[in-house]
Amino acid sequence: MTGVATHCPYCALQCATTLHPVAKPGAVEVRPRQFPTNRGGLCRKGWTAPDVLTVPDRLTVPLVRNAAGELEETSWDAALDFVADRIKALQASHGRDAIAVFGGGGLTNEKAYALGKFARVALKTANVDYNGRFCMSSAAAATNRAFGIDRGLPFPLADLGGAGAVLLVGSNIAETMPPAVAHLQAAREAGGLLVVDPRRSATAGLTEENAGIHLQATPGTDLALVLALTHVVLQEGLADTAFLSERVDDPDVLIRSTASWWPERAERVTGVPAATIRQAARVLAAAAPVHGGAGAYILTGRGAEQHSKGTDTVTACINLALALGLPGRMGSGYGCITGQGNGQGGREHGQKADQLPGYRSIEDPAARSYVAQVWGVDPDELPRSGKSAVELIDSLGTAAGPKALFVHGSNLLVSAPNLASVRERLAALELLVVADVVPSETALLADVVFPVTQWAEEDGTMTSLEGRVLRRRAAVSAPGEVRSDLAVFAGIAERLGIDGFSTDPREVFEELRRASAGGKADYSGISWARLDAGEALFWPVPHEGHPGTPRLFADGFPTADGRAHVVPVDHRPVADDLSGDAPIYLVTGRLLQHYQSGAQTRRVPELAEAEPEVFAEIHPRVAAQLGIGDGRPVRLRTARGSMVLPARVTADVRPDTVFVPFHYGGAEAVNELTNDALDPVSRMPEFKACAVEVTAAVLGATGVPA
Ligand code: SF4
Repeated sequence: MTGVATHCPYCALQCATTLHPVAKPGAVEVRPRQFPTNRGGLCRKGWTAPDVLTVPDRLTVPLVRNAAGELEETSWDAALDFVADRIKALQASHGRDAIAVFGGGGLTNEKAYALGKFARVALKTANVDYNGRFCMSSAAAATNRAFGIDRGLPFPLADLGGAGAVLLVGSNIAETMPPAVAHLQAAREAGGLLVVDPRRSATAGLTEENAGIHLQATPGTDLALVLALTHVVLQEGLADTAFLSERVDDPDVLIRSTASWWPERAERVTGVPAATIRQAARVLAAAAPVHGGAGAYILTGRGAEQHSKGTDTVTACINLALALGLPGRMGSGYGCITGQGNGQGGREHGQKADQLPGYRSIEDPAARSYVAQVWGVDPDELPRSGKSAVELIDSLGTAAGPKALFVHGSNLLVSAPNLASVRERLAALELLVVADVVPSETALLADVVFPVTQWAEEDGTMTSLEGRVLRRRAAVSAPGEVRSDLAVFAGIAERLGIDGFSTDPREVFEELRRASAGGKADYSGISWARLDAGEALFWPVPHEGHPGTPRLFADGFPTADGRAHVVPVDHRPVADDLSGDAPIYLVTGRLLQHYQSGAQTRRVPELAEAEPEVFAEIHPRVAAQLGIGDGRPVRLRTARGSMVLPARVTADVRPDTVFVPFHYGGAEAVNELTNDALDPVSRMPEFKACAVEVTAAVLGATGVPA
């Protein structure tokens, strides 16, 4: 039996698999497949992904909330009619922007493209954004301003294989995408694995094998640390001066912006010893091409990016890479580790508030004109930029804000920051429509729920963390009345009197190709036929005969002057910083067993049994001071809310830090506590650091917190 070749439904590594139908209806068995990113490996999430296809509470029929306030089964036609009628009434009373759309970085390229078009052409609203704003926006903003383009990894992941040093800033790939660790092998053996993380994460633990370095910085201080690394590189004559003069716009900015960050000053801010900072800078520099090294990479993840200064922290990392002459060099570079399965493709095709397909700006007159022609509409009819995710959520149900919201591929009630505020805004809506696979926390609040297809039930394309476009293939039929999200867009559009929305993903991709032609993320040369023939196509692919672009900067940077741009940045404290009442930092992150909001993985028995509940990692010294034993309840309180959860006492966290995984919902959702302060450039909320009060929780007679 050959099986159906596809890819894992979860993270952006998009491990290759084959699916084999089994006797149970709708079920498959998964086997790993050789592929450059996963090299035949799968993590525990990938191995158990088929379980999600047959979960007992799978949504299989549309639901509409009845007069008694309960979700009740209905037909697709009835649900679509109801939603379309409500849209007409709300837009008649409040205008086009009364309807908002929220997408997801797990949607296929075809769905992401159709969602953006649905918002702009069918609903004619500016209010569209997506959960990639919580994932990739800071790295995207930083790379756009430095290099003129944003592709997470501007090189194939396999290029890392020969590197002598890899600096990972805020990325825990040993848990989030374990097969990717194989690409670090050479750096690990050379003692060149450098990890910046306030926790001794699984990835940071790898530095202990071969004299790698764990830079265990205070939360919220990565920027200061990287400025100091760059300071050492420049002051010790380790920079690639020829690269700086030939390929960078203003090297002096680099010198001026890091001059005051000598390691001893950085030590006071970050807690990382000055000697360790110097040693790390020297190890990284020794691997750089200018010193005849095997190659060096700097990679960032959400730990560096999900801050109110995330764009500047990534910029500092890019500046360090430029100082060492890494970007655009074979075997070296800067990249961002994308998180969500289609986090890359999801931000190229128009789900984002300020973008049109092909990674075009919605404010660019030429882009508006081109895309409007593809869509068959007047360019002046296209909405302008809308609000970013948090700002959009904050406006829901307000006097001037949207009165209705569509949610596709996102579980806002677990994954957005400051959940009390999110819950209040969703409750203020007159219509909440959710398309999902399972009754997620957000779906359970909806007025209308559409049951939609998931990975093994649908055809389409995804774009991996390295910008490679991949085919997702259906292996089983969807259960019950399940249809694609494309059917929601087409069904509503038709009822609004708008045509041009196909439910065939191949047709949608053909239109996406035309709409992206000439844009930065040009897919016009990519066809399903080329992908099905096994071609490795990294965008841009501007025509059918083009081989794709595995290495984006091989021939220069796509800026106006062809040079990389140095942007001066400086450290600043976290928005909600420590105080006498809240003297510890709360940081959040992921576990090996779960994916994002956990809506899928919490329903997989093997994964749920392995990590069944939320917990708080607390340093032994703090636990002793507060009288908190391992496994005992602890209360965390921030300016936004409080929660009680079991303690895991471990020296893996700093004494000034508490770590909580964010995969859990309801009373276990740590985003009740996180801060929605925004990065001024990317509009990324500060998930990763805020001040928290930690106390031993007192349980009442029933075992419930008193
Ligand atoms: Fe691979 Fe990521 Fe799926 Fe794990 S979750 S199998 S690392 S794609």
